[in-house]
Amino acid sequence: MRALSQAERLLQSFDITSPDEIDLEAIAWEMGVKVRNGTLESCEARIIGFRDRAIITVRGDGDPRRRRFSIAHELGHWQHHRGKSSICRASEIGSPGQSGNTIERQADNYAADLLMPAYLFRPLAAAHRRPSFEAIDALAGAFSTSRLATVLRFIDLSPWPCLIICHGPNGRRWFRRNAGIPDHWFPRDDLDPESGAMDVLYGKIDRARPTIIGADAWFDRWNADRFELTEECIKGFGNDVLALLTLTDQQMLE
Ligand SMILES: [Zn+2]
Repeated sequence: MRALSQAERLLQSFDITSPDEIDLEAIAWEMGVKVRNGTLESCEARIIGFRDRAIITVRGDGDPRRRRFSIAHELGHWQHHRGKSSICRASEIGSPGQSGNTIERQADNYAADLLMPAYLFRPLAAAHRRPSFEAIDALAGAFSTSRLATVLRFIDLSPWPCLIICHGPNGRRWFRRNAGIPDHWFPRDDLDPESGAMDVLYGKIDRARPTIIGADAWFDRWNADRFELTEECIKGFGNDVLALLTLTDQQMLE
């Protein structure tokens, strides 16, 4: 059993037993942090601290789920990087393509733990029959989190071996796979014309139904054509497409 993270211990100390009890601003207040909306020029959110008090300023005009993640991200800075003020651009908050900056990733991990604690997320995820965007959107609704933040959490905590891959017009942008997927299944750089992701990427449809497809559509490993997997594709941000892949062939997992 995985040990509880700092954020999860904090939630348990408040006896939080369901997602709708995660009142972020009340939690922030308990941490000595006041949250206010503001108009910020070039950033999404910031925290300015002095001794054991701090103020988070967050853009109030955007998507409320995104705003929640930004506040939780700033609380992550407060927890881990106290003494420094943080000013975070939109591209630095909850952005899976930016793997380099460990400080920002630490704040994102804290945010994911605080908004979607494993002890609540795991059982709700496992109640679905299989990985799907329908399941992910239901979880996003329950936890008041964005589809993107939820899909990343789903990959990390779901009981099924699955991965999410994001492609743009110039090829693969990023991917995330969970511990159930062996390392040698590394996704291809390019999209296969057979994949439903092509139709989504080129704007013919907004989503493609879950489909069984040859694993060689997604992996160019020598034996990939022997296996099949399930893909489901949906329009992401801008011109991106998100593909959720579930490995169902036991031999792929060995
Ligand atoms: Zn940050």
